[in-house]
Amino acid sequence: MARVVVMGAGISGHTASTRLRSFLPKKHEVVVVSPNPQWNWVPSNVWVGVGTLEVKDVLFDLAPVYKKAGIVFKQAKVISIHPEGDKDSSSPYISVEYTEAGKVGHIEKVTYDYLVNSTGPKLNFAATPGLGPEGHSHSICWASHAEHAQKDFLAAIERMKKGQKQTFLIGMGHGMATCQGAAFEYIFNVEFEIRRRGLRDLANIVYLTNEYEVGDFGMGGMHLRRGGYYTHSKIFAESFYTEKGIKMITRAHVTKVEAGVAHYVNLADEEHKIEFDFAMLIPPFAGVGLTAFNKSGKEIKDTLFAPNGMMKVDADYTPKAYEEWKAADWPKFYQNQAYKNIFAVGIAFAPPHFISKPMKNSAGTMINPTPPRTGMPSGVMALAVAKTVASIIKHGGDQSKATFYSASMADIGAACVASAGKKFFTGRAAGITLHPIVPDYDRYPVFGRDPKLTTGEIGLGAHWIKIVIHHMFIWKAKLKPGWTLLPE
Ligand SMILES: Cc1cc2nc3c(=O)[nH]c(=O)nc-3n(C[C@H](O)[C@H](O)[C@H](O)COP(=O)(O)OP(=O)(O)OC[C@H]3O[C@@H](n4cnc5c(N)ncnc54)[C@H](O)[C@@H]3O)c2cc1C
Repeated sequence: MARVVVMGAGISGHTASTRLRSFLPKKHEVVVVSPNPQWNWVPSNVWVGVGTLEVKDVLFDLAPVYKKAGIVFKQAKVISIHPEGDKDSSSPYISVEYTEAGKVGHIEKVTYDYLVNSTGPKLNFAATPGLGPEGHSHSICWASHAEHAQKDFLAAIERMKKGQKQTFLIGMGHGMATCQGAAFEYIFNVEFEIRRRGLRDLANIVYLTNEYEVGDFGMGGMHLRRGGYYTHSKIFAESFYTEKGIKMITRAHVTKVEAGVAHYVNLADEEHKIEFDFAMLIPPFAGVGLTAFNKSGKEIKDTLFAPNGMMKVDADYTPKAYEEWKAADWPKFYQNQAYKNIFAVGIAFAPPHFISKPMKNSAGTMINPTPPRTGMPSGVMALAVAKTVASIIKHGGDQSKATFYSASMADIGAACVASAGKKFFTGRAAGITLHPIVPDYDRYPVFGRDPKLTTGEIGLGAHWIKIVIHHMFIWKAKLKPGWTLLPE
């Protein structure tokens, strides 16, 4: 009997645990440890944030789903990893702290044979003073944040109905934040909701970003095949912002957010401030703050984690100049190299370097997006790790005989449908596909990506696809009939 413990129950963790359960005979145990009792379809938080969905529409309880599937669920947060066990036993274990009502604060050792880290990001609001729901700006990264944003967004709408002008500031709350796609979706939904109420002339809508140019998306931008031409994503995104009358501030690092004012510095060292009535600024991401100890109790955090708290896997972490970056630097199997029974997927793994070109101003402030790991690649790498771990277990733990399934971000593609307004006949969305996610200039010397598979379109059809995706992924996550046939 083997026990696989999956830390986290978000997009990648839920994929890993449910796929593992479907691959492994019942005599093996799959355990999920996650502090949140509910699963959240994070992409639809965008709609919660403007009031076109309610928070209940993007959440469901995990316990009944796991019970039915035969997965053990512990509502707890992982604190530390002990990959060699401790002085009492050589069995590897994690130390967890319960968050479940009635057990809050209870600490338990959970032993494992294989460990999958899918703990996602820590939303590092503290990196920018005043940033975030406990400061002076909103976030839509968690469902509860989106619900809070909705309340204030609708209050701003009410003020406009009384004739008051409002400034909406949306974008990135730090020079090294990622998830530009979420801010892109949110700002166009905000604009759409204001316009359809006939209030557009009262709204000043501003996109503030750490991207060198809009359309970078933390992936260094891309050339999109569109209508028989190749168009850079800068043009694609810029024309959309321009069409909607949205102002763009690029190359910016937010230094401080005060009530109604965001301060920022840019790559040209200029310091500015902008006043707002409503702000949604995405925080930078870090690892969730796990630590690790060896058998004798010595902290070995650096063996398992990169300085940003994300887990080291089979990537090439040798520091390299931008010109020397290679597609091969990116991990294939998401396996920690010091402890080969530990894997990390989704936002929890440490990328070897940025994808966008690193930039800093003369004061040394880095202003460039960190690499995104969006839903589709997070799911694809979780599926690959689930297959690998199942294969290792089927070979009695002999890794030399097992099949390792690769899902390097330099080999796999991604599709992203970014909503730009949610109404059945008048809504719009931008559908972008790219392959591979990390450019590979050896294989594709001109664009770094396959021009046939890197495309972009905006329209009503993409909006309908976005609606289908919302229902399909919630159906799949609830493990309803046919779920194994649905792609990641
Ligand atoms: C507003 C928004 C819109 C987005 N839209 C899209 C989109 O349209 N398309 C797309 O592809 N991607 C989109 N993304 C990105 C996508 O949501 C992420 O890529 C995805 O959620 C990452 O999955 P993950 O499993 O790594 O992390 P998460 O989904 O964040 O899951 C992390 C899990 O770990 C748990 N956890 C945290 N700390 C601990 C701990 N100490 N111990 C145990 N468990 C822990 C959390 O509770 C959670 O269950 C969007 C993101 C945002 C914020």
